Amino acid sequence: GDILKKRKIAVLGSRSVGKSSLVIQYIENHFVESYYPTIEATFSKGVMYKGVEYDCDIIDTAGQDEYSILNSKHAIGIHGYVLVYSIASRNSFDMIQIVYDKIINFCGVNDIPCVIVGSKSDLPSRQVTAADAEELAKLNKAAWVETSAKNNVNIGKVFELCVQEIERRSPNNQVE
Ligand code: GDP
Repeated sequence: GDILKKRKIAVLGSRSVGKSSLVIQYIENHFVESYYPTIEATFSKGVMYKGVEYDCDIIDTAGQDEYSILNSKHAIGIHGYVLVYSIASRNSFDMIQIVYDKIINFCGVNDIPCVIVGSKSDLPSRQVTAADAEELAKLNKAAWVETSAKNNVNIGKVFELCVQEIERRSPNNQVE
């Protein structure tokens, strides 16, 4: 019979990069123009990958800077990470490597299942090129995608890629 596989995914990134908008677009299929500063929230959704449905808990985190962005509870029991920057903010992009390094140091591993997301791809004021982002992703053995929550572009792809990154590291994962 079908096995329901549970996976926990944490969404991290600088303030205002569009973490909540990404998650709300994915869960509720609409774009919220202004959302409250996030109080941490967890959502559940089934993600299909290779014909298997993964029951995913998606944690929309509330950290804002390099000190508060990674709470220790986001480094324990998490299967995969979605690290979000805005293509219109170089600072938010520079934060990705800092957060990535914090996670691998905390977990004591060399790499983690991770999708790097360039959000707000609809904005004309680009400060991060696709080439720079692809290089960062390659360096960290992570997947990468650009999204627009506003125009609903590549939103589902983020979570499919995240499950892919989780599963390709542990193909024999059993239900936990
Ligand atoms: P968070 O702090 O990372 O959770 O960011 P929010 O989801 O609250 O979004 C911050 C601001 O960016 C809000 O005003 C959103 O409407 C806006 N925003 C989020 N996603 C997009 C997008 O894809 N395109 C554009 N143009 N704006 C976005």
